[in-house]
Amino acid sequence: MAEADSLETRDPLNTPVQYVPGVGRHWAAVLMRLGLTRARDVLFHFPRDYQDYTDLRTVAEFEDGALHSAIGTIEDVETVEYRGGRMRLGLLVRSGDESLRVTWFNQRYLVGRFQEGQRILVSGKAKRDGLRWEMAHPRFQILDEEEDEPTRGALLPVYPSTERLSQPRLRSIVQRVVADAADAVPEVFPPSYLDAHNLPGIGQAIRQIHFPENHDQLAAARRRFVYQELLILQLALAIKQQQQHTVGQAPALEPTAKIDARIRRLFPFELTPGQNRAIDEITADTAGTIPMNRLLQADVGAGKTVVAAYLMLLAVAHGFQAALMAPTEVLARQHATTLGRLLSAARVRQALLSGSMKSAERDEVKSRLAEGALDIVVGTQAMIQGDVEFANLAVVVIDEQHKFGVTQRAALRAGDRSPHYLVMTATPIPRTIAMTAFGDLDVTRIDDTPPGRQQVHTYLAEENERSKWWEFFCKKLDEGRQGYVIAPLVEDSDRLDVTSVEAAYEALCNGPLEAYRVGLIHGRLSSDDKEAVMERFRRGDIQVLVATTVIEVGVDVPNATLMTIEGGERFGLSQLHQLRGRISRGAYAGYCCVFAAMENDASRARLEAFRDTPGGFELAEIDFRLRGPGELFGTRQHGLPPMRIADLGRDTELLSEARRDAQQLVREDPGLASPDHRLLRAMVIRRYGKALSLGDVG
Ligand code: ADP
Ligand code: MG
Repeated sequence: MAEADSLETRDPLNTPVQYVPGVGRHWAAVLMRLGLTRARDVLFHFPRDYQDYTDLRTVAEFEDGALHSAIGTIEDVETVEYRGGRMRLGLLVRSGDESLRVTWFNQRYLVGRFQEGQRILVSGKAKRDGLRWEMAHPRFQILDEEEDEPTRGALLPVYPSTERLSQPRLRSIVQRVVADAADAVPEVFPPSYLDAHNLPGIGQAIRQIHFPENHDQLAAARRRFVYQELLILQLALAIKQQQQHTVGQAPALEPTAKIDARIRRLFPFELTPGQNRAIDEITADTAGTIPMNRLLQADVGAGKTVVAAYLMLLAVAHGFQAALMAPTEVLARQHATTLGRLLSAARVRQALLSGSMKSAERDEVKSRLAEGALDIVVGTQAMIQGDVEFANLAVVVIDEQHKFGVTQRAALRAGDRSPHYLVMTATPIPRTIAMTAFGDLDVTRIDDTPPGRQQVHTYLAEENERSKWWEFFCKKLDEGRQGYVIAPLVEDSDRLDVTSVEAAYEALCNGPLEAYRVGLIHGRLSSDDKEAVMERFRRGDIQVLVATTVIEVGVDVPNATLMTIEGGERFGLSQLHQLRGRISRGAYAGYCCVFAAMENDASRARLEAFRDTPGGFELAEIDFRLRGPGELFGTRQHGLPPMRIADLGRDTELLSEARRDAQQLVREDPGLASPDHRLLRAMVIRRYGKALSLGDVG
């Protein structure tokens, strides 16, 4: 670490924990397991929570409707199930001479957390019900056995720890280290910066994040660390952006009335207001020479493809080329077909670039692209990002991209020009995440759907309802509809994956779907075979397609309105929603039935949310709540190290502030070269230098 260079005779930050008074060899070994070897590690081992005794009372002292905390002993634990899967968890807590009833509704994850005899701290709104006091949905903490009876007024830290190291012991170790070393931590911000941003100095912030005297102190300390973490991130992104901006200008593509009319004439339907708004935002960007970096977000079936087509045709109308990249061959071919249909009446030269083409064919397409003899190319991302050269590329569209961080952004260039980029996704990304992971990516949303769309009826079925479901499935097939069966997927094992989908296929052909034309598609088939199967499905030769998640994204067969999902517990919410999106594309209502081994409450909660929530955005927010933003949109997914203290779902305002400040800092001092910014720069490089290849700043 950079600070270690300035080691004087004794740097208190580097003191091995073993030599902290009261620690010794035994506890040092335990601390080591928490990753704490030196004093500075302990200083930055922040509490994960606090025990709040600032408003501690006995139940006898409660006031009706006020926020209170109380400590008591659990005397009874009770779980009550209601119809429709709802439930209530109740505790009877004895505190002094009185008792308090504590309740939670539908918080299944809490079941099993409580035992009679445990001491518990609860904080929440106290309500008087007849003779008894009640508290619903309080914050709570189970107290350690050796915990001293806390003093009123305190806010005690609760640390990430191990079973062997009790909170009181860890607390006293931290207390010593903080007293000894907090003031030795170098300050990254100049004093004037701290003042201007109303941030406590580093020593004070460390003391107060561990041992705040009240909520205000805690909030101020936390604010400093969150701000600092977000600022470092935003500085890294701003520097990256600055480096990229030197890459060159993009061609200006003005959507004149004439061009606009010419493009719209090709579409077989009127665009929705949402699609039109998206086109307005996109063309406002592309009319300028700063390369566009825009994310188009819309729920499955909202009609993103036609927006992409508009943009590509705009480039072609100005005499430039456009590329459309899809995540899979199946999708690339589908897009090529769709575009081919749209463009049959136009003089646009379009080609597919596919991995399964003969290499002579591929070379032919590539040389036509390089000569400028092709206007639009469609292919998989891998294909187009290969060694393809363009004569005059102006627009790149990346479809159904789920991993689209700064680190993943495709780098396609055409000479010294940079194209405009449009990234399309059905995965809703909260604004804060977009700002973080993409740095400079602007977001456009389409929030309506084409008219006449039917909702998908979703069921969560028990094993004994199978025959009933298949009966219904077959009845709809007889009416002329088509359907999918999504076979269970075994993680990380292609071979098993194929075996299970093949087994499902066999079982269906010899069982409930005996009388129907059934096809099979999975990732192990060659591209040509996959395409052949898809084509037969599109034509209706195949009535039911048994598939793995190859069809998860993008596949567009409006007559397919039925879906059976097996092994539903293995899918994430957004994946389930993507799957269901395949059957909400036409004028007929869709029916989706999920069979799942309900392993635990978490998977039940997820599947019930899927059943009850039709909208993708709403579902994503639930996913966000159930799993936490970390897993879903963690910076990790985007190739960046995870956040340590900031919560991207919650610290929105600080994120905006940090972003503004970072951009200003980098504008005023491009390489962060001034002595005032030396430490900030070192932190940026240390944390993000590698992930964002910021090489030449450091
Ligand atoms: P997604 O946003 O999931 O990629 P698509 O672009 O595949 O959606 O569009 C879904 C379906 O809706 C396609 O069959 C498409 O032709 C149709 N569609 C798109 N826009 C409209 C519209 N404005 N009016 C009617 N149908 C539309
Ligand atoms: Mg699509």
